[in-house]
Amino acid sequence: MDSRWSIAIHGGAGTILRENLADAQRRAYEVGLAAALDAGANLLAEGGSALDAVAAAVVLLEDDPLFNAGRGATFTFEGGIELDAAIMDGRDRAAGAVAAVTTVRNPLLLARAVMEHSPHVFLAGAGAEQFAREQGFEPVDPSWFETPERRRQLEEFRARKSGWFDSSVKYGTVGAVARDTQAHVAAATSTGGLTGKRWGRIGDSPLIGAGTYADDRACAVSATGAGEYFIRTGAAKAIADRVCLLGEGLQEAADAVIAEVGALGGDGGVIVAGADGGTAFALNTAGMYRGRADSEGRREIAIFGDE
Ligand code: ASP
Repeated sequence: MDSRWSIAIHGGAGTILRENLADAQRRAYEVGLAAALDAGANLLAEGGSALDAVAAAVVLLEDDPLFNAGRGATFTFEGGIELDAAIMDGRDRAAGAVAAVTTVRNPLLLARAVMEHSPHVFLAGAGAEQFAREQGFEPVDPSWFETPERRRQLEEFRARKSGWFDSSVKYGTVGAVARDTQAHVAAATSTGGLTGKRWGRIGDSPLIGAGTYADDRACAVSATGAGEYFIRTGAAKAIADRVCLLGEGLQEAADAVIAEVGALGGDGGVIVAGADGGTAFALNTAGMYRGRADSEGRREIAIFGDE
């Protein structure tokens, strides 16, 4: 039997420079990433499904205030919190997504409920909240999500008054991709979006095919970065298509799509888990909080692009 498994996670890409990241801060990120990676890896090692593994990893990252998802999410221009998430199962390409939810502690679990307990793929705003109540998700007070550091970033963004994108940002979206011992893949992504977003802006993270995609015939993908560019390139599906239709390797396909994002002026990164058991990272930013582990004994946590 093919008992291989693999998992990769990210906690966002962006302008993450050694000189700006104090040792203690770096260690805190590594601890958060390691907890999520190990939670997913342990499930896979026990024969658990890729779907359960990516969900377990992402939920921990959502609860970790360091990352821009769930607790610790970025603020909208008006000072609110609007959360987006998606999950996809490579077995049958079942998918669930939510956008602009404001009271659900773990949006990824709501996305999973959309996939498993609704006839739909994507629910947004008030309707998604209503579905959450019907599914028994207890609302949390919006203050659960708020952190002083994200509030400071919003004030800084507002004071600048130029540009709609905080191009110096550390995109803090979180994601996980995995391949289980049954050779199934799955992907999950969760985010607060971009600091200072307005007008109900939704990024790539909850859009199936843009920031999240999984297909057993190819791979699972989760993205982070300037969402508009990942939407315009259909980035996650493009990687899966390159693997499936062109027969490219995971790294080659991921590099090609990140180059395409870059050529349009976008930045960010992706994580990929192949149905073949391999994993790949690609980024065109200075860094991406990331980690991977597999049944061959590999276990890595990395932050900077040159690691
Ligand atoms: N991709 C996310 C978005 O545009 C942002 C991020 O990666 O942090 O919503």
